[in-house]
Amino acid sequence: MVQLYQPKRHWKDIELWKDVTDEQWNDWLWQLTHTIRTLDDLKKVIQLTPEEEEGVKISTKTIPLNITPYYASLMNPGDPRCPIRMQSVPISKEIEKMKYDMEDPLAEDEDSPVPGLTHRYPDRVLFLVTNQCSMYCRYCTRRRFSGQIGMGVPKKQLDAAIQYIAQTKAVRDVLLSGGDGLLINDQILEYILKNLRAIPHVEIIRIGTRAPVVFPQRITDKLCSILRKYHPVWLNTHFNTSLELTEASKTACEKLVDAGVPVGNQAVILSGINDSAHIMKKLMHDLVAIRVRPYYVYQCDLSEGIGHFRAPISKGLEIMEALRGHITGFAVPTFVVDAPGGGGKITLQPNYILSQSPEKIVLRNFEGVITTYPEPSHYVAGQADDYFAEMTGIDGSEPSIGIHRLMKDEEMHLVPKGLNRLERRAMYEQDIGHQSLKDQREKRDLLKEKKWQAEQAKQQAQVDADEM
Ligand code: SF4
Repeated sequence: MVQLYQPKRHWKDIELWKDVTDEQWNDWLWQLTHTIRTLDDLKKVIQLTPEEEEGVKISTKTIPLNITPYYASLMNPGDPRCPIRMQSVPISKEIEKMKYDMEDPLAEDEDSPVPGLTHRYPDRVLFLVTNQCSMYCRYCTRRRFSGQIGMGVPKKQLDAAIQYIAQTKAVRDVLLSGGDGLLINDQILEYILKNLRAIPHVEIIRIGTRAPVVFPQRITDKLCSILRKYHPVWLNTHFNTSLELTEASKTACEKLVDAGVPVGNQAVILSGINDSAHIMKKLMHDLVAIRVRPYYVYQCDLSEGIGHFRAPISKGLEIMEALRGHITGFAVPTFVVDAPGGGGKITLQPNYILSQSPEKIVLRNFEGVITTYPEPSHYVAGQADDYFAEMTGIDGSEPSIGIHRLMKDEEMHLVPKGLNRLERRAMYEQDIGHQSLKDQREKRDLLKEKKWQAEQAKQQAQVDADEM
């Protein structure tokens, strides 16, 4: 039985909400319209440190202060190390820009055919349906957009994105996100879902939302009945620590799963919040106990003002070492670094291959046991392909991308741009006086060929003469 987090005080014990009824508290619109947005209100919930107080003051320059009453009620009022507090209450460090910080580290705006839509991977798009969130996470990677004035998403923009998807046959998977993908009302959500579902090549629709974590009241029966109409709809949420797993968040996740929506979780490794193997292990255990599948653990991005949240990549590898083999296989998420500059997700894990030969691979397991896997000597690749092609029409001949091109013999090399040596090579080719051993070899080969042909002609002449 999962041990859910119970804060030490009930929300009714907090002065700000002492007269709020259960009905109001459980109404998502009440939660949304009563978020904490001012220093004065926040002071009624927690005792702020000077660093936090300063953070709130500068939040108009960074990303707004906005915390749902529900999420705020989970905070420890007297301890700034509280992970709920660290994720939601700004601190003065957010104004600091570090050496490698970027406004848009994943270059989402560059790979954008129309505003609010990113088409990076071959068959899927990211569709930003709102810039609003019920709570602004202090480490938000999309802080250039989330909660920013002037970045709202008008219907015209939604329609242009839907039109792009309809015209782009390669898109089979659409991720609705933001902001928070569920911070639009039911009517707009249904409008988007209905229009996407009417596009024959869109196979799956995904929603990225923190609602089950910071705003579980949003997961209503009505919402679930809408989602149920447009299956397959998948949803990824974002728990970072077991201290966010409450009875209310469990109920929200279970409602979604009961409505046939597979729920996954993406956590981010955050310094001082969850950057220890045992904290992550407990999170993964608790997630699967409420039927949420751990999906990704992210390395924190290089967004501006969030450097204090970053842990080294080696910490992520250490966490993965403590998970793989130690807990249920499907409870182990994939550790990813989203490549700065827009290269997409790069998955990392500790190295389990120690050595290899054509006959054998030497591996190690999570206990440190070293073992070998003898490679099959009789293996013939691709024996399933012909029958599969006959049955489905899919023969694997579509062009590939990246390293897979090398595997499929579509390319022999992948060469980065801007190599000095290639620029020099181009210069030599333009210089008519330039000579290299290659030119000498070509001359030699030409002479050899001429000599060989002369010998052949001579021999043939001899044969012809003998036959006469
Ligand atoms: S919910 Fe997502 S988009 Fe919104 S602030 Fe948090 S991380 Fe950023």
